Amino acid sequence: MVLSLPEHVSEILHTLTKAGHEAYAVGGCVRDALLGRTPEDWDITTSARPEEVKALFRRTIDTGIQHGTVTVMLGKEGFEVTTYRIDGEYEDGRHPKEVLFTPSLREDLKRRDFTINAMAYHPDQGLVDLFGGAGDLEAKVIRAVGVPKERFQEDALRILRAIRFAAQLGFSIEEHTLQAISSFAARLELVSRERIQVELTKLLKSDHPGQFRLVYETGITKILFPRFDEMMALPQNNPYHCYSVGEHTLKMMECIEPDPILRWCALLHDTGKTTTYSTGGDGIDHFYGHGMASAAFAREFLRDLRFDNDTIESVFLLTKYHDYSFDMTKHNLRRAMYKVGNERFPLLLKLVRADTLAKSAYAQEKLLPIIDRLEEMYAEILAAADCTDLKHLAVNGRDLIAAGMKPGPLMGETLNRLLMLVLEHPEYNTKETLLSYWKESL
Ligand code: ATP
Ligand code: MG
Repeated sequence: MVLSLPEHVSEILHTLTKAGHEAYAVGGCVRDALLGRTPEDWDITTSARPEEVKALFRRTIDTGIQHGTVTVMLGKEGFEVTTYRIDGEYEDGRHPKEVLFTPSLREDLKRRDFTINAMAYHPDQGLVDLFGGAGDLEAKVIRAVGVPKERFQEDALRILRAIRFAAQLGFSIEEHTLQAISSFAARLELVSRERIQVELTKLLKSDHPGQFRLVYETGITKILFPRFDEMMALPQNNPYHCYSVGEHTLKMMECIEPDPILRWCALLHDTGKTTTYSTGGDGIDHFYGHGMASAAFAREFLRDLRFDNDTIESVFLLTKYHDYSFDMTKHNLRRAMYKVGNERFPLLLKLVRADTLAKSAYAQEKLLPIIDRLEEMYAEILAAADCTDLKHLAVNGRDLIAAGMKPGPLMGETLNRLLMLVLEHPEYNTKETLLSYWKESL
């Protein structure tokens, strides 16, 4: 078994072994290299103590020295080199109380979460695979190292990591590991929101976002996202739909490209349906106002997961307008561009298309030609460079002052009014036309 290592990684391994230490590439990079995927980063595990590592390399950074991690800098690249360690008692399902260094590679591999993540590699020693990781890679299985229940009890984040790897790699989860996930789902409550955010985003933007189904089936949504359980239980008796709200959501995630914003929008776009549904006299279900209700839910949900404001704002606006009723005029389309924001508008079109692809054949037949036409009209608006925001309005505050307006709140209002006019008549977007329109309207 020969893996090709980046030059810098070989260099670090050789420097450490020449000095009498053991050293291996370990974890995710070995897994990915065996799969023929390009590893994101190469981690190194070694018997050398952090001080010994630091003494061997010219430039190092104390990344997590108390956990034994030193970053070795070679050129512009950094490589995390971590001393063999055992994670001590986990007090609270969150942090190991203490970290103990060990001279044993086996001990270091044993503390890792899944067999496929617990392999080490050195060019001279070959693959060190003590827990059957290579076989599990072959069989496409996620299996906990050791007794699954104990491992999830130690660190509940592993519950989500298991499903995230299943989604990224297209693997299934071994039976006992899966049972333990269901048994310990409630312990995710102990895990920090930031760590949950990272794992959920990796799951959503993976090749198999529909594996979110496992988050539901193992009872995790009941803890972290109970609204999703309600969505799974909400049928949609409406000719445009053929799935429950939850099934439609899972399907839509598979229909949209792996952009994190788009995938989060897909997951959250119909969360407001559970609070807005009504059944008409004809027995047909409606969800009036669910765009806004979903957007409000999404905002709270993402805030709780400690997302940054830009992400929250994008998901909020795209969700709010995901069922915008386009009346197929360019005026209406420019208004939508203004409301969602120009740079986000292409995302809205992608969302609307994916939403439709996850609906009934009837909906697709009716709506897809409309979406095709919207995309053409959008391209025409871009080609004509029509103004759809204040930045491109031919008049600004200074122009209004120069024309005699006093600074104040009226100014913003006036500029907005002029923009509304230009959205309707793009040809009016010249300083002369807009100023004379303003003067006439006084
Ligand atoms: P990614 O592709 O997301 O980087 P990865 O497997 O490299 O996947 P990391 O979070 O970078 O994951 O962790 C590196 C290695 O550390 C893992 O492969 C695993 O061996 C170990 N590890 C990470 N998190 C845990 C955990 N919560 N419990 C046990 N071992 C873990
Ligand atoms: Mg990694």
